[in-house]
Amino acid sequence: MATIGFIGLGNMGAPMAANLVKAQHRVSGYDIAAAAMTALSENGGHAAASIAAAAAAGDIVVTMLPAGPQVRAVYLGPDGILAHAKPGALLIDCSTIDVETARTVAAEAAARGFAMIDAPVSGGTIGAAAGTLTFMVGGEAPAFARAEPLLQAMGKTIVHAGPSGAGQTAKICNNMILAASMIAVCEGFALAEKLGLPAQTLFNICSTSTSQCWAMTGYCPVPGPVPAAPSNRGYAAGFTAANMLKDLRLSQQAAGASGAATPLGAAAANLYQLYVDAGGGPFDFSGIMQFLRRPSGEAPRSG
Ligand code: NAD
Repeated sequence: MATIGFIGLGNMGAPMAANLVKAQHRVSGYDIAAAAMTALSENGGHAAASIAAAAAAGDIVVTMLPAGPQVRAVYLGPDGILAHAKPGALLIDCSTIDVETARTVAAEAAARGFAMIDAPVSGGTIGAAAGTLTFMVGGEAPAFARAEPLLQAMGKTIVHAGPSGAGQTAKICNNMILAASMIAVCEGFALAEKLGLPAQTLFNICSTSTSQCWAMTGYCPVPGPVPAAPSNRGYAAGFTAANMLKDLRLSQQAAGASGAATPLGAAAANLYQLYVDAGGGPFDFSGIMQFLRRPSGEAPRSG
């Protein structure tokens, strides 16, 4: 049993922390949202009064925050993790953020004597609740070895991708593929709808045909075929469209910087921007189904 500081108890962090509690770890958590703290207490965790208190409590500190700016603030701020963590604590950031921030924060941590890994995840809120996440890890081998048993309490597949930042590289590639495949699935179901083919019939065929993919079989964007999917609850997130847009922007920045050609990634970023501009940001990313059902002839904005 380890004592774990857990900061960021949102859609993903809350079920991940709950699985650590179930695995008999003592979890001292903090989130700026009061409701998240209440949920942690109800799940058997200890509600810490601040980032500093959660960090100081942990042999291991896990963070699950929205994006790079929050990660910088929570780790590097005067009341942050690096200023308050126990000497020798292992730091694990599971947020999806830009590679540069991941490397910068890990280097600052190393300068203060802390081992740190980037360990973003795939599997969504369903995988987080089931403890079946995939972790893609960047960092030194000894830190990975220390983290692996803990990550196994929250996930099923734990992969050491390479040095610091490699986990984030894998994650932005994964999410660019996911966004493009989600849009393709939505377009297929929207076309079938127009042609009078029931969604369940299309699902029964495509889920065992060459177009099958996780966006369809694990997270179907139309209600019915996959009962656990957000489409069955009004597209309540899940994984917000705003966070998907953030990840697509990260992929496009990386593609620009490295000279990689990602035309579908660029198109997906454009469509998610339109969906977010239309008010879809807080909804699940599969809610783009509703946006793509717009009246025919309405052209997507370019640029
Ligand atoms: P979320 O917005 O639901 O949760 C983030 C939490 O961080 C919120 O509860 C927020 O209050 C808290 N927070 C923000 N700033 C804070 C601060 N300074 N101190 C303490 N708490 C703070 O987001 P999420 O869906 O849980 O996603 C978290 C990360 O995981 C993101 O980077 C996202 O891209 C990634 N991710 C999400 C999913 C998913 O399906 N939701 C899947 C894979 C990866």
